[in-house]
Amino acid sequence: MFREINLRLPLQQADSLTEQMRAAARMLRIHPKRICGLRIIKESTDARQRVIYKQLRCLIAVDEPLPPPPPLPERPPKLPAGAARILIIGAGPAGLFAALRCLELGACPVILERGKDVSSRRFDLRPINCDGIVPTNSNYCFGEGGAGAFSDGKLYTRTTKRGDVSEIYRYFVAHGADPAILIESHPHIGSDKLPRIIRSIRSTILQCGGEVHFNTRVCGLLRSADRRHLLGVYSDDGREWQAAGVILATGHSARDVYRMLASEHLLMERKVFAAGVRIEHPQSLIDAAQYHLRSGQARPNSLPAARYALATTIRDRGVHSFCMCPGGFIVPAATENDEVVVNGMSLSRRNSPYANSGFVVTVTPKDTDSLNPQYGVLSGIAWQKKLEQATAIAGGGRMKAPAQRVPDFLMRRESTSLRLGNYRPGLTPYNLWELLPRGICERMAEALRLFEHHIPGFTSGDALLIGSETRTSSPVRIPRESDSLQHPELSGLFPCAEGAGYAGGIISAALDGRLCAEAAVASIHH
Ligand SMILES: Cc1cc2nc3c(=O)[nH]c(=O)nc-3n(C[C@H](O)[C@H](O)[C@H](O)COP(=O)(O)OP(=O)(O)OC[C@H]3O[C@@H](n4cnc5c(N)ncnc54)[C@H](O)[C@@H]3O)c2cc1C
Repeated sequence: MFREINLRLPLQQADSLTEQMRAAARMLRIHPKRICGLRIIKESTDARQRVIYKQLRCLIAVDEPLPPPPPLPERPPKLPAGAARILIIGAGPAGLFAALRCLELGACPVILERGKDVSSRRFDLRPINCDGIVPTNSNYCFGEGGAGAFSDGKLYTRTTKRGDVSEIYRYFVAHGADPAILIESHPHIGSDKLPRIIRSIRSTILQCGGEVHFNTRVCGLLRSADRRHLLGVYSDDGREWQAAGVILATGHSARDVYRMLASEHLLMERKVFAAGVRIEHPQSLIDAAQYHLRSGQARPNSLPAARYALATTIRDRGVHSFCMCPGGFIVPAATENDEVVVNGMSLSRRNSPYANSGFVVTVTPKDTDSLNPQYGVLSGIAWQKKLEQATAIAGGGRMKAPAQRVPDFLMRRESTSLRLGNYRPGLTPYNLWELLPRGICERMAEALRLFEHHIPGFTSGDALLIGSETRTSSPVRIPRESDSLQHPELSGLFPCAEGAGYAGGIISAALDGRLCAEAAVASIHH
């Protein structure tokens, strides 16, 4: 007999199999000897009270051995000659997982990626951080692995409707990720480990017969004579690529792609996004609040760097923390040289002394209406860009970012000094009320005061606000039909994942990549 049960054990006992077995036997009211096996399916830390517990969801085998765990995905068979070709634009999580799915379905994925392979791409982060120079096709957003390659590698998602999240975790493990991600409730990989996993996924794609072309930026569409079918694309080196379907997985920072679609007069829609700043605290402050530590008490080694997720609504607008990176770094995530954009990343051990998080307010299409006459459907993107350019000017150049201590922000005055933060290009004191729209600043101020009740010290002098966090999601949706996943005006085009407005984060992008691959392959057989 097999049973799934929830155990709640104090932290000190939770990792002991004997204690787990004992607790399971107590719960099932059976003799411990009858338990032949126990497997943890999910685990999380409950730090709501002073005594910290681990919650374990366990599969228990009574009177018979445990069944084997679900297998890791096997490498798909090598493609037969003449397999139908699917073009995948972008090698982010969506593109890579779309390619794996194509292979499983017997189609040949041909990935076109504007940036470099993930190993070469690493060398382009140095000029961004040290000299303030952004290589425009190879940076924190562009290149193999996409925007997720040098990230925190958080794999948590609330998405369930796009597919089986644990399936994606199993692919990561099959390509070298720590199997612990299969059971952690908030799994994360870390930007020191992600590149190796991405290389391994590429190796699977190539060995099975797929193609990956780096330094190949797609800049045009090859349409049928009646313009209703997409036959392929053009890349900026003048090549023409033909295929049975085109999955467009270019992420939310490929503004040239939105402009290209607009120039083709293809339907796009404005959508809600969010903008604000990154907020950075000493990790010890977050640990103390989340784990109820006494003053000066260090976090026990058995506990991970604490995280938080805060959200509220102020005058009909969401204000929330976003992409929180415990023990992380703030990174310059701009894709052009005249802008400053911040985002967060962390290493697998999450051991930097600072915690950072996006701290953002909803921006609706109405907020960008004034730009509509000039930019039309791309007015949200123009709004983002203007804020990013103003942020660059406020920072004073070389990717330096404008920053303000939280108490000074609440008093609406520039900080006279800033503590050293974890943003390599450097910080410039600036009154953010003079940079961000008033409606955003007012809501951020109100939310900060509220969040102080959840995390004491959240608004202390140790907390820094760093501008600007603008690339939370795409301000544009590229529509697709709900069943075929093709653009309603252009068959053969499969708008995919974050850039098209159907995903937010690594896992949901990967899931959407798989869905688009299934739709693209199905369209060939129609
Ligand atoms: C610094 C940072 C940290 C992050 N941390 C996390 C995290 O911890 N957890 C999480 O879930 N999410 C995180 N995110 C967000 C996450 O990375 C994205 O949600 C996810 O990568 C979106 O996947 P995607 O495949 O849709 O697009 P992307 O990852 O953006 O990939 C798009 C790809 O398309 C390529 N491309 C663009 N235009 C063209 C073109 N014209 N021709 C050819 N190729 C093109 C790009 O170079 C890029 O490789 C982070 C993002 C950043 C920037």
